[in-house]
Amino acid sequence: MKLSQRVARIKPSATLSINAKAKALAKQGIRIINFGVGEPDFDTPEYIREAAVDAIRRGHTRYTAVGGIDELKDAVLEMIRNEYGLTYGRENVLVSCGGKHALYNLFQALLDPGDEVIIPSPFWVSYPDMVELADGKPVFVECPESRGFKLRAQDLEKAITPRTRLLIWNSPSNPTGVHYRRSDMEPIAQVLLKHGHVAVVSDDIYCRILFGDHEWCNLPMVEGRLKDRTFIVNGVSKTYCMTGWRIGYLVGDRDAVRAATDIQSQSTSNPTSIAQCASAAALRDHESEIRSMVREFESRSRYVLKRLLEIPGVSCPQPDGAFYVFPNFGHYLGRKYGGKVIRDSGELAQYLLEQAHLAVVPGGAFGEDRCLRLSYALSMKDLEEGFNRLEKALAALEK
Ligand code: PMP
Ligand code: GLU
Repeated sequence: MKLSQRVARIKPSATLSINAKAKALAKQGIRIINFGVGEPDFDTPEYIREAAVDAIRRGHTRYTAVGGIDELKDAVLEMIRNEYGLTYGRENVLVSCGGKHALYNLFQALLDPGDEVIIPSPFWVSYPDMVELADGKPVFVECPESRGFKLRAQDLEKAITPRTRLLIWNSPSNPTGVHYRRSDMEPIAQVLLKHGHVAVVSDDIYCRILFGDHEWCNLPMVEGRLKDRTFIVNGVSKTYCMTGWRIGYLVGDRDAVRAATDIQSQSTSNPTSIAQCASAAALRDHESEIRSMVREFESRSRYVLKRLLEIPGVSCPQPDGAFYVFPNFGHYLGRKYGGKVIRDSGELAQYLLEQAHLAVVPGGAFGEDRCLRLSYALSMKDLEEGFNRLEKALAALEK
């Protein structure tokens, strides 16, 4: 079958393919420790499940408005007003089938062929491919480990051209877990103020999963003049342990949101009516459940970092949030197993999966081939077992 040129430009999501491989091996009875996919290991809280059952009983089982029900839009607006101090109206909100879908719709609505999108690297796997699907051109800006994987203002400035349409911003970050402080963001905001043609996509999906006494902020909170050209993307997947429910949203410029809604109207129509009702309940009543989940991730992050730094040759910045670490295993590339040289992060991940039954995502998929991404959304027992296996497998490699 002849396939489109568009398809030839993209790859399947690395995070989802690793998850599928890990699940297939587990089905064969192999005990896999899955550091692969990024989803909380907790169940959706009971009050949210109840709200979904209630929505079915009340008959919320039909098409809704394409861009989402007012009840959910209002819950989103209230959350953004209370937590970000930013005010928008319903016309600024589109509810989609996950944050991923919100991003996809936005890129389709904004980008023309050749429009450039600045992506700080390391980056979440799906950004470049989604930009390419919209005929845009990803422009990567290196943010090395030596700078804590953070974008510097001068590097952003150098990457901006007359064709730049968007900067993608993600803090805390997938894959690094690193978060930008207000003082890191002020110089970035100054650069953006000088270049009025550059809009911002603020992927805030991990905003609530932040450790210690860090203050979370996004660019329009740091510099109010950026509000009109910032698009906020968020969703319920991570904060409320609702990855399977597929609800995310986009908030920003009214015309762009209308265009993205039109695109959605010609593809998925509304996201699931029942999941929308449950998400409205999730957003309105959450504090204690979220706090205990974040505390748990924080204590696991300390354990994970300790175990990683005990492995000879491995380095890793301290994660501030989300549930990922992005350690550097460059020390082990070039080593051999059974006479075969492990050349890159893909081969190292494959070795760990086959020989140690550990699922990890190759750093190459996130723009840094010396690293592996580990999600620590696992029980302490699995983490302990996982790190024991990792240590043993790395020590077994020959120089
Ligand atoms: N952005 C980032 C950085 C993510 O890690 C994810 C996780 N899938 C998403 C967006 C989208 O999540 P979802 O589609 O489940 O809302
Ligand atoms: N965002 C998660 C991850 O990075 C979920 C999988 C995906 O949508 O890519 O693992």
